[in-house]
Amino acid sequence: MTEKNQNKKYSKDEVIKFGDNTPDRGIFCPKCETNIPEFEDMTPELETRVLKLIRDGKRLMAMVELQSALACSTHWSKIWVLHSGKPSPDYPGPPCPYCSKPLKTSLAKYCLHCQNYWRNK
Ligand SMILES: [Zn+2]
Ligand SMILES: [Zn+2]
Repeated sequence: MTEKNQNKKYSKDEVIKFGDNTPDRGIFCPKCETNIPEFEDMTPELETRVLKLIRDGKRLMAMVELQSALACSTHWSKIWVLHSGKPSPDYPGPPCPYCSKPLKTSLAKYCLHCQNYWRNK
């Protein structure tokens, strides 16, 4: 198994090279089994602006903002906007004690990946 830096941010060159392809790293969202890309060029100002648009229900504008600032595809901006840059607070939960894949929530006592069930851990 080759070691991959799962959380390395995408440089602009990589973003352009990937285009519309599904991002192969980022913060994994187990809910939709998608990697949410992180960008080297994402500034706190941009993030704040985009998150505000999302909060205001202006998702399309948020996507356009990301696309123009980061040169990313519609696909990527959509993933980012749908997640507000990260999986919903409960996602991912802590790793499963058996297979170490992320659990559905922090309170889960059952693992969807390996079907294990436990009471206290
Ligand atoms: Zn998701
Ligand atoms: Zn498991």
